[in-house]
Amino acid sequence: MDKVRVRFAPSPTGPLHLGGVRTALYDYLFAKNQGGEFVLRIEDTDTARYVEGAEEYIEEALEWCGIIADESPKKGGTFAPYRQSERRHIYDKYTEQILKTDYAYIAFDTAEELDAIRAEYEARGDVFSYDNKSRNRLRNSIALSEEEVQRLLDEKTPYVVRFKMPIDRTLNLVDIIRGNSSVNTNTLDDKVLVKNDGMPTYHFANIIDDHEMEISHVIRGEEWLPSLGLHTLLYEAMGWEAPQFAHLSLILKPEGKGKLSKRDGDKFGFPVFPLNFTDPATGNVSKGYRESGYLPEAFINMVALLGWSPADDKEILSLDEMAKEFDLNKVHKAGARFSKEKAEWFNHQYIQKTSDEDLLNILKNSDLNLTLSDDKLLKVIKLMKERATFPKDIYENGKFFFEAPTSYDEKASKKAWNDETSAILGELASNLEEADFNAENLKQTVHDFAENKGLGMGKVMMPLRLSLVGELKGPDVPDIMELLGKEETISRINNAINNFK
Ligand code: GLU
Repeated sequence: MDKVRVRFAPSPTGPLHLGGVRTALYDYLFAKNQGGEFVLRIEDTDTARYVEGAEEYIEEALEWCGIIADESPKKGGTFAPYRQSERRHIYDKYTEQILKTDYAYIAFDTAEELDAIRAEYEARGDVFSYDNKSRNRLRNSIALSEEEVQRLLDEKTPYVVRFKMPIDRTLNLVDIIRGNSSVNTNTLDDKVLVKNDGMPTYHFANIIDDHEMEISHVIRGEEWLPSLGLHTLLYEAMGWEAPQFAHLSLILKPEGKGKLSKRDGDKFGFPVFPLNFTDPATGNVSKGYRESGYLPEAFINMVALLGWSPADDKEILSLDEMAKEFDLNKVHKAGARFSKEKAEWFNHQYIQKTSDEDLLNILKNSDLNLTLSDDKLLKVIKLMKERATFPKDIYENGKFFFEAPTSYDEKASKKAWNDETSAILGELASNLEEADFNAENLKQTVHDFAENKGLGMGKVMMPLRLSLVGELKGPDVPDIMELLGKEETISRINNAINNFK
């Protein structure tokens, strides 16, 4: 195969979780690294599990992440349609083709019949499997006579197409990340390839589409590893060259054991979905990274490093830099432990890299009550950005820029205010009436004032900060004073004096 073509093939059965985003990202990074194409294909043959809005969610989430497909249901492309429900006409001819081989047969067993057999097995303490040991005793074209099969077909009896798993063959499976392994076909069952409505199941549609769409590499989650034997044999049955496979390990719970689940997210307070998702059945909203204040660049950087180590232990990489460096051979075999702290660390790093103007836009597009001019907001951003993990922290930690304190932290008050303080600050306030309100000058003014009065700086600065902020927090006091302006600064000092009377 010459051209590298990689697909991300989600089923619209719910929102994309972190693992899904990482699969899509690695698919994309590998394709771009190899100068190839990245395809989004929607695998929606399982109508029973279809969730309204899930496809739109997946597309929106990938767009937010900047993982842009070269071909997709929305964009189209040479191999359109990219939604399996619209490809039935393509599958029909391959159903006919595989039925002409010795790799498939038709089976008439109804769901009720199979349930009854399953129950019989269970009663004996056995587990039923439709496979090379049981198939000869069931209602299918292998066990029944030709005449009986024909009669059932003439009567329009519904049937499924099953894969005829070869007996006692050892399959060598090759995986780029995990290396070689083998499986004996006696451990595998006769999976349904085509349902009784004529629609193929995941396994069959998946390999047909990978072949039709000229996919060179299948990079997907490790939950599909048990299907690799079947898929390898399906390629053999169809006489097609198989793509190369790479199965990605799980993203693990923060404590390191078991697969990361939505419940872990709820428990430890971090999202497991890229965007908010409203379950159409229950109306429940699951939190997304976007709505929680993560920048998409920080989010994908964090996701990329869950299971892949770039050269020189570099941690901060843009999507393009990641694409340049990405190497499937450097993807870890072991599961990657999720860390909320690390996710926040990435966001903090990217907030620092974001320009003040861009942060202003982010804040203005939020539902925060920003009552300052853009000019002042930019100054607040400059002062507060360094300590912000999320854009909203700039507002929340800098609330005093927007509203005068209505109360004063008790512990801070005890520390900062004594009997003389009101008089000292009263005098300072009248000095400030004449001052030029720029931070440098204010610093000097307060300094000179303290010196003239023979007071330590703390005696002035601490109550001044308390008056302006309500606590002993925040950036440099002269910077706060400059931003608040003369009138507001003096008014806040007077408020505090009245309060501590
Ligand atoms: N539709 C499958 C899923 O939802 C795709 C698996 C694969 O990539 O082959 O994960």
